[in-house]
Amino acid sequence: MLAAKDLDALKATLEAERERLAKEIAEYERDGRETLSDVSGENNYRDHMADQGSATFARELDKTLEENARESLARVEAALARIEAGEYGTCRRCGAEIPVERLRAVPEAELCVTCKAQEESL
Ligand SMILES: [Zn+2]
Repeated sequence: MLAAKDLDALKATLEAERERLAKEIAEYERDGRETLSDVSGENNYRDHMADQGSATFARELDKTLEENARESLARVEAALARIEAGEYGTCRRCGAEIPVERLRAVPEAELCVTCKAQEESL
């Protein structure tokens, strides 16, 4: 079992991470809208094409980063839900305890090192 103070510290880390990611995602959403309006406001054909190309690239890059942020947020929220459910710190696959050192390094981890290695080798 995790010590209460370890659990509290990990929970605080996860909550801070959730806040950071939510802000990051809100920023991407705002940037996405601004980029769209910039492109539609451009009339010169050649400039339009060039701008559209770079804007599309920037949007796609943002989209990838946004998707990564959303996936991270989902993992952080799942970890917080497991804390609430009292399941945090046990491996989702084999039920073994995840060492606190691993949780400190990866607070959203839901697999022990052994299961994680097995999953990655599949
Ligand atoms: Zn396991």
